[in-house]
Amino acid sequence: MLCPMCNSKLKKGKVKEEYLGHELGEFEGFICKKCGETLLTEESAKMAQQKTKERGIFGLAEKTKISRNGNSLMVRIKKQMAEYLGLTEGEEVIIRPEGKKKLVVEVI
Ligand SMILES: [Zn+2]
Repeated sequence: MLCPMCNSKLKKGKVKEEYLGHELGEFEGFICKKCGETLLTEESAKMAQQKTKERGIFGLAEKTKISRNGNSLMVRIKKQMAEYLGLTEGEEVIIRPEGKKKLVVEVI
């Protein structure tokens, strides 16, 4: 099996999986010694997904559309995400760009 990132040979090993800042544990997978890329086996991927479901974080990362309100643009935060973060209407948050490709909303 070859690394999808750099085409080097992958070695079998334990892969630490993390999702949305939650450590999911170690799973059987493949590691690229050259670039550090890791892959899970199909079975491990299912187990990791099961863990995200158990923790209520499955499917939290998703696409959302920007809408307009007057001169401002708005990002919609769906119910599941709001509940996960404990966010309610009227609450203040800090938003800041992280480079040109990431917008961080910080719950305070
Ligand atoms: Zn690689």
